[in-house]
Amino acid sequence: MAPKRFRIKPPPAPADGPVTLRYPSRRASVGAGVVRRALPHPHRRLIGAWCFLDHFGPTPVRGDRDDIGVHPHIGLQTVTWLLSGEMLHLDSIGSRQRIRPGQLSWMTAGRGIAHAELAQTAGGGSLHGVQLWVALPGAHRRTAPGFVHHDSLPVADLDGAQATVLVGELGGVRAATHTFSPLVGADITVPDRRRRRITLRPDFEHGAVVLEGAVSIEGEHLTPGTLLYLGTQRRALAVQGAPAGRWMLVGGAPLREDVLIWWNYVFRDPEEVRDVVADWNRPNRLRFPDVPGYTGPRIPSPEWNG
Ligand code: MN
Repeated sequence: MAPKRFRIKPPPAPADGPVTLRYPSRRASVGAGVVRRALPHPHRRLIGAWCFLDHFGPTPVRGDRDDIGVHPHIGLQTVTWLLSGEMLHLDSIGSRQRIRPGQLSWMTAGRGIAHAELAQTAGGGSLHGVQLWVALPGAHRRTAPGFVHHDSLPVADLDGAQATVLVGELGGVRAATHTFSPLVGADITVPDRRRRRITLRPDFEHGAVVLEGAVSIEGEHLTPGTLLYLGTQRRALAVQGAPAGRWMLVGGAPLREDVLIWWNYVFRDPEEVRDVVADWNRPNRLRFPDVPGYTGPRIPSPEWNG
């Protein structure tokens, strides 16, 4: 089947003030599984520099059917954040890292990296988590590839709600994660119906996705499968459990760049993506070395026909 012809459209502009806009997540296939894809949405492609948000599971661990074979990325950073289950990350700069719930693996693709994400089945149980991408700003998008793992992350108490800070700063607590644009990302557990206010940076735009249970944010009742876009210029957010839940806050300084996302690539110029498809499929091992410890085939890139 020929890939869909890609139309180049600039992303919708950030809202000029606070809003509450609900966007249903799309069902998308990843490997053998189905995920709730909150970003990119046709009407909301970026929140700060966050450009991709998949919520997967909880689903029973099914062995290697949950594996994602070797594939390339450019122009972005990725994080897989697990609520349950375990993954093994292998990449073309030689990283080999088990990822467990509560740990953050932060991969910078820059000018090019390839990796495999393998579900670990020894413990059985279920696989549940999110995968997020951050678009690198134009000035840094060809940076060297990198991979950093954080075994533990800082936790902020937000008036009785517990926030694990993955990226940036929230509730006076700052994560060590290196970013190329101002960002925030946190996993927040709201234990009860009490209404609380979470302080936000007004120069950021923000969004929310519920991972478990139900949460009310600015009066919007949210369960898994909906992205709530919150706009800009908010100093605080009213949050309560409905009756209890766990949700992900994403935000950042609006990235006012014409970011294009196609397959696993974040880029600006179609010429660039023609080159990267050729380098991956040929393959050019200077740009995309083999992934040590992984013997399966490369997932071929669709051909660019935009
Ligand atoms: Mn990937």
